[in-house]
Amino acid sequence: MHTSPAAEGGAENLAPIHVYNTLSREIEPLRTQVPGHIGIYVCGMTVYDYCHIGHARAMMAFDVVARHLRHRGYKVRFVRNHTDVDDKIITRARENGESPLDLSARFIQALEEDLSGIGIRAPDFAPKVSDHIGDIVTLIGEIVAKGHGYRADNGDVYFSVLSDPNYGKLSGKKLDDLRAGERVAVDTAKRHPGDFALWKAWGGEDTEPHWPSPWGEGRPGWHIECSAMARHYLGDTFDIHGGGIDLVFPHHENEIAQSECGTGHPYATHWMHNGHLTLDNEKMSKSLGNIKRIRDILREVPGEALRLLYLESHYRSPLPYNSERLGSALVALDRLYCAKEVAFSATGDAEPKAMGEPGLDAADIGRVFEQRFHAAMDNDFNTAEAMGIVFDLVRAVNRLGNDRSTRAKGGKILAPARAAFALMAEVLGIGTMEPQAFFDEVKTKRLLAQGRSVEEIEAKIAARGAARAAKNWAEADRLRVELDADNIVVMDSPAGSTWRMRVGE
Ligand SMILES: [Zn+2]
Repeated sequence: MHTSPAAEGGAENLAPIHVYNTLSREIEPLRTQVPGHIGIYVCGMTVYDYCHIGHARAMMAFDVVARHLRHRGYKVRFVRNHTDVDDKIITRARENGESPLDLSARFIQALEEDLSGIGIRAPDFAPKVSDHIGDIVTLIGEIVAKGHGYRADNGDVYFSVLSDPNYGKLSGKKLDDLRAGERVAVDTAKRHPGDFALWKAWGGEDTEPHWPSPWGEGRPGWHIECSAMARHYLGDTFDIHGGGIDLVFPHHENEIAQSECGTGHPYATHWMHNGHLTLDNEKMSKSLGNIKRIRDILREVPGEALRLLYLESHYRSPLPYNSERLGSALVALDRLYCAKEVAFSATGDAEPKAMGEPGLDAADIGRVFEQRFHAAMDNDFNTAEAMGIVFDLVRAVNRLGNDRSTRAKGGKILAPARAAFALMAEVLGIGTMEPQAFFDEVKTKRLLAQGRSVEEIEAKIAARGAARAAKNWAEADRLRVELDADNIVVMDSPAGSTWRMRVGE
């Protein structure tokens, strides 16, 4: 029966977490093999090109899952693999005239840079297929020995779907449906069209990676790779398996089938799948120059803007993407940093009442923030709801920030807001920067995207300062209007002028 970690004893203080399970199609209490400990395996990327915003959505979804579970006191063991042995890699490497493992090593490095650029933390283990061939061969051996796999005439080893009475339990597909596709994909080596390769015989070309096995030289099929690596790091049975919704069939269905038939134990308890990212009204194409690679987006906006865009949707929902939405995310993030700046620069110990309605609002919203935030996140990692709670706070703090005396008086009122910023930084990975560093990054990146430079703007601001000093008000005003039209906001103070980039309206 299903029991919560608390009911299993030894982890009484842990928050009950609820997770949607693709296997049961229900939201269930999270249950773990070892109370308080969670093993998570997420299918990583096949590394033959740069990471785009669709890939990053899956990485982001499970980054937040791991962050939140850790925040709630669970000991998380997080594994996300790199598929570095694959047909697409072999083909691309051949085109380039480099070795497949050199090509994948380059893209693994690029992937790590891109993901860290959007605040996605490295997993505890990031195994590569090429380092786990032994585990893969062992598992295939068990599958074959138990009568669930066979070596076909072409030298490939296949999993026999007919040998597994539970086949289809994740996707709901029936073997008869698979047979209906037989006319389309005729593969005479297979006993059933749904059978899939566990081991692919070496074709004899040096450009194709190959390893020895009891079934001859060859390389693993895609599905078996994840089963073997998950088992190596997390055991036969583990707690959460994640990936994009497109992986439910056939990849995850096949992982379950081969693992459970091979080991004789249940595979993953909970199956979590993130929804698709769709390009809304925009086609990704090289000729339009709008391929949405992470590194291109990071040239235009701080990485947290993309994070915020992802977080505003529930991980299971489809996520329509367009550049307007990224722009809105940047505007929202700018407001968040304005609020953070207010919250952390305020001193003094005025009571909420002394600052009127805005003071009462900010104090009240700050006080219940943590509880509301936890409730949203404990319920299937509902970041859409959590972001609503974050922006309730941001609005309240900014409203208080409009009061000129806030910085000198509101320190005590804003103490819960400061705690709230720490919480969202830890769990959601937003608002992690110093506000000034954020504003500076926006300046640099926005200007660069417009083909201008910080130096150019600062020269204009200096010219305006000189005009003011010479009491040439007409010239000073003219420059101010020009700067304003360029979305440059100049703030004058006795200490001199500072400026920031206005984002959106
Ligand atoms: Zn996988």
